[in-house]
Amino acid sequence: MQLVFDGHNDVLLRLWTHARDGADPIAEFRDGTSSGHIDAPRARAGGLAGGLCAIYIPSGDLVFAEPDRNGHYVTPLAAPLERWPSLDIANEMAAIALRLDRAGAWKLCRSTSDIRQSMEKGIFAAVMHMEGCEAIGADLAALETFYAMGLRSLGPVWSRNNVFAHGVPFAFPMSPDTGLGLTEAGFELVRECNRLGVLIDLAHITERGFWDVAKTSDQPLVASHSNAHALTPVARNLTDKQLDAIRESRGVVGLNYATAMLRDDGRSDAGTPIETMLRHVDHLVERMGIDCVALGSDFDGATIPEDIGDASGNQRLIEALRGAGYGDADLAKLCRENWLRILASAWGETGKAAA
Ligand SMILES: [Zn+2]
Repeated sequence: MQLVFDGHNDVLLRLWTHARDGADPIAEFRDGTSSGHIDAPRARAGGLAGGLCAIYIPSGDLVFAEPDRNGHYVTPLAAPLERWPSLDIANEMAAIALRLDRAGAWKLCRSTSDIRQSMEKGIFAAVMHMEGCEAIGADLAALETFYAMGLRSLGPVWSRNNVFAHGVPFAFPMSPDTGLGLTEAGFELVRECNRLGVLIDLAHITERGFWDVAKTSDQPLVASHSNAHALTPVARNLTDKQLDAIRESRGVVGLNYATAMLRDDGRSDAGTPIETMLRHVDHLVERMGIDCVALGSDFDGATIPEDIGDASGNQRLIEALRGAGYGDADLAKLCRENWLRILASAWGETGKAAA
């Protein structure tokens, strides 16, 4: 079995939501549940050995637009969030991540040697990620405290605007060039992440924001859970020009399993076959090479193909890739080694910057 280190999941959002209803997040993750996509037993069964686990503040007002008869849709951006209660919610999700670590239900990793050790031990290797930094004010003070809690990766913005950047809407078909780029505070956030050794994730940012980060950051360019715009022209996917820049920086793109980001017609449909995922992997590999492609499932955050179902079905994708001609060396890169190389670089373990 090829163990997978995955670029994006929303399991903390699910555990936090259920905890608000009285559930025990530790028991839910450690012992397993029938809801959502990831818990320790299902992750083990599917060889999902670890991943970037997002702290994400939900947008209560977000209503996905219905596609018209051509399948086209434009969901307006969710409203910007206030710093409070965003900071409270982020603290609560970070606390769940820390409690899972203390309970031994997962390992909260702060280095790639942490990740490799917990993968060897069969303990889920979690890395704390922040998807949209509404909990961090423009003064960046909270970045320091979240770093101390274990934060090692962040996307400045989700698909809504904030003090750091503008996000892309959920829309099909649409270019990712939908708004402004980084603000002054956003540039400062990027520089501070470079200094601290926090990975910067370009999923959800506008194309202008993408280029702003590209010209500012000394890290490889990373989109943790995005696909090829040439195949599925949703605003969230990456144009070939963006893929070329990621290749030049020796960065990485994690394949998003969200069916709306995989299908030609942009529809969200659990009946979508795994072959659509292979087409995106092939395109990403043709454009960037095998060293720049990885996985970013969006487990617990998206409608994924029912042929995979949840984390326990993750190896069905790997087997399909094997059937399509990817050998063990390529699969090791796709499944985990590319992510580990990127994290080692962003975290300053191997000397920064590439190319
Ligand atoms: Zn996302």
